[in-house]
Amino acid sequence: MRSDTTTDSADALDEPVAAGNVRCDACPVLCIIRPGKTGACDRYANLEGKLARVDPLVIAQRVEGPDGKVVRFLDREWNGEMLADAPIFVTGIGSGTTYPDYKPAPFIVASRHAGVDMVTVVTEGIFSYCGVKVKIDTDRFLGPEQAAVRVDGEQIGHVTTAEYGSQMLALGGVRHLTGGTKREGRVTCEALENLCNRHPVEVAIDGGSKVVIQSDAAPIVDGEREERMRVGCGSATIGMFAQQWFGHADEVIVVDDQITGVLSEHQAGRFLSMQPAGIKVRGRKSTPGRYFRVAEPGSGWGGTNVTDPLEIIEHIDPDTAWPGLRLLMVSTTGQQAAWFVLDSQLRPQPAPLPLAIEQAVARIAENCEPARCTVLFMGGAGGSLRAGVTDNPVQLTRSVKDALTRVTCGGAPVFIWPGGGITLMVDVARMPERSFGSVPTPALVVPIEFTLRRDHYAALGGHIGNIVPLEDVLARSHIAATDWRSDNPWPMGAQGDPE
Ligand code: SF4
Repeated sequence: MRSDTTTDSADALDEPVAAGNVRCDACPVLCIIRPGKTGACDRYANLEGKLARVDPLVIAQRVEGPDGKVVRFLDREWNGEMLADAPIFVTGIGSGTTYPDYKPAPFIVASRHAGVDMVTVVTEGIFSYCGVKVKIDTDRFLGPEQAAVRVDGEQIGHVTTAEYGSQMLALGGVRHLTGGTKREGRVTCEALENLCNRHPVEVAIDGGSKVVIQSDAAPIVDGEREERMRVGCGSATIGMFAQQWFGHADEVIVVDDQITGVLSEHQAGRFLSMQPAGIKVRGRKSTPGRYFRVAEPGSGWGGTNVTDPLEIIEHIDPDTAWPGLRLLMVSTTGQQAAWFVLDSQLRPQPAPLPLAIEQAVARIAENCEPARCTVLFMGGAGGSLRAGVTDNPVQLTRSVKDALTRVTCGGAPVFIWPGGGITLMVDVARMPERSFGSVPTPALVVPIEFTLRRDHYAALGGHIGNIVPLEDVLARSHIAATDWRSDNPWPMGAQGDPE
């Protein structure tokens, strides 16, 4: 099968559909699909004259596996058997969309949990207002804050505020999806879908680097795979390891783009009664032993542009320093380290790292966590999508805020932002693979489930007449099963209750 669409006209619903063709009304594109073909998004097809969702509906079974990991849902078709003690959760993946939103969601499923009647409203929401927040564990300079992030030359987002040991990108959003050119919207949508489906995407940052981003994988910056996330800033590194360096070095300088630490001046060195070493570093002194901007950002030592650490030494005070002074310069990941001894002219002379110092540097590296990319999908379910759940949408928002309704995406827990609407964030690594789709409006298609007690559902004006028993859903022919991920809380329990 291949895509074969013929219309996106606003008047399309009034146009006759030729014999054998079907009209898909699951999104505003309103494709007319010929027999045996799929619509523009490849999600719906004309199967023997009937509109059908192509992908299987994914159910998750809470089976205690040895590793508790989700298997690829398309690898295993459901064989129709229910495991006696394996509760089943119907995810939004493959469930389809009802458009316009006043129609009830595709599945409103009844089930029982711990003797309580529950309802799960299941749909694939279409999100034009959405994007991803990407956390990239690296000290390397990826690009200036606010710089454009591009794919195939199109801006899909920007560099935002760095966090502790990580660079952050804000990608997507309605401005790039719909506010620019058609190509910008298409490229943005494709990049978001790939990122959310945990595929690698290479981005180019204006004035910075090329980075390959992939959920739960190490970032690749300008062709180099990042190994470690820094243990902390230069000052924190001194705080952690000062005791272990004491007695083996007369001075330790931890080179860091944000806060470079100088041991003998630092509070940690003072507590250890270290003798001042008289080695002054460049940059702006913040507090004793803590210096900002000792160099420019870059891909060198500690996220600076420094390749020779001696560059950051401004001067050595002859009244304080002494010949034979032992100096360790090290980065915040321990990936770079150099040992110097001052000669009779107080010039630092490189020397091999003594064993104790080698071990101390290895300890820094040991404390660095593996560098990873984290991709959080963020979108607003507070719009018309709520009408598929209840005829009084604000009641759903209140129910979510009151923790009576649990929101999940493909069964994964979400963080709901305080304030208006249902603005959620979810770690795509906790969702089954290939959970996301897209439509050419352009927008992302995202599985979303609302789970609550049946009496609460009735109270908020839910579509009670459309509730179907779980058994009816399971009787559908096109279902795929996946194991429940053991680190995801079971949505039927109370909020925060893993059962
Ligand atoms: S793009 Fe997909 S969901 Fe939208 S009308 Fe076409 S086939 Fe249906």
